[in-house]
Amino acid sequence: MAPQSKPPADAFALARRRMVQEQLHRRGVRHPEVLESMGTVPREHFLTGSRSKDPIRAYADTAIPVARGQTLSQPYMVARMTEALDPKPQHRVLEIGTGTGYQTAVLARLVAEVWSVERDHYLADRARDRLKALGLENIHFQVGDGSLGWPDGAPYDGILVTAAAPSIPRALVGQLAPGGRLIIPVGPRELQELLLIQEEDGELRTQVLMECRFVPLVGQEGWGGPTA
Ligand code: SAH
Repeated sequence: MAPQSKPPADAFALARRRMVQEQLHRRGVRHPEVLESMGTVPREHFLTGSRSKDPIRAYADTAIPVARGQTLSQPYMVARMTEALDPKPQHRVLEIGTGTGYQTAVLARLVAEVWSVERDHYLADRARDRLKALGLENIHFQVGDGSLGWPDGAPYDGILVTAAAPSIPRALVGQLAPGGRLIIPVGPRELQELLLIQEEDGELRTQVLMECRFVPLVGQEGWGGPTA
């Protein structure tokens, strides 16, 4: 039997187009730039370990386990979160939970600057290498506790958290620009609500976007902190 060969490059382009059409557009994701970005970023580059031996699976309609017990989010979830941020080319966005860097790459194609915080050195180093190899240069990286945000780049037009918090981290709200949007999964460990939070006249306006399940945000204003 011939050794299993890697799918040709256009198989990935086809899988990407299908993903955009069947998983995103068909389910109501309409933001043209978000669809364009997700139709461009090579998701197959973001798998780790044995999963990278079957790279076409990156386009499956599911979240995918990656190194260090973390997950690469389902394409639909990435699209919905990014769309909810209402990204604009001049925006500066803070992302908490770099993970594989896939969501970072999708964002980096849409906004002026992405500031991304990851608590795990191993994941952060690999994400940085991948994103560099893709030629994305508008990303600032930090290893640390993102539940406290990243004051250096504040205020942010958008903050996107890809790990679940027990409650809304106040530090993140404090780093939003006026009119800025915070997208974050909040709730118990097993099931959360994806929230869109905006501050208006000193009041927090919260909208529930959907149910979701993310790995925990571990940190001072996350799980393991004084309030959880
Ligand atoms: N957006 C990622 C998915 C990340 S999974 C992707 O597309 O691949 C959630 C990530 O949040 C994990 O990498 C985890 O290590 C990280 N994380 C958890 N708590 C954190 C914290 N307090 N600060 C920064 N990163 C955190």
